Amino acid sequence: MSEETIFSKIIRQEIPTPLLYQDDLVTAFRDISPRVDSHILIIPNKLIPTVNDVEEEDELALGRMITVAKKLAKEEGIDENGYRLIMNCNQHGGQEVYHIHMHLLGGQPLGPLLSV
Ligand code: 5GP
Repeated sequence: MSEETIFSKIIRQEIPTPLLYQDDLVTAFRDISPRVDSHILIIPNKLIPTVNDVEEEDELALGRMITVAKKLAKEEGIDENGYRLIMNCNQHGGQEVYHIHMHLLGGQPLGPLLSV
């Protein structure tokens, strides 16, 4: 069993965080420390620690994360100008929370993909 993170508590609303979206597979909420004007996290409800731990049976939830990103980008009014979706993996990827999540980033020009 993998160790739960704060994100499991947010999914169960044991830590009250306004949810932008939730269904049986995924949950979305604003990043507590937004790096850009619009910074949303979209996560599977199932605890998957890293992208390395993804299984075939998770494909439905992972696909749902993208369709929810599309829906929220429209609701945020950032779909036409554009946005970026990022998933970090492990130390070199800059992952801090070991429950996979997709960052939806937008609301301003984002510049080059990487700063190393
Ligand atoms: P990572 O670096 O793992 O890809 O990103 C983790 C993200 O989770 C960070 O952007 C961080 O600000 C966000 N985060 C960490 N703890 C919390 C929390 O308790 N609530 C919310 N809403 N975001 C969090």
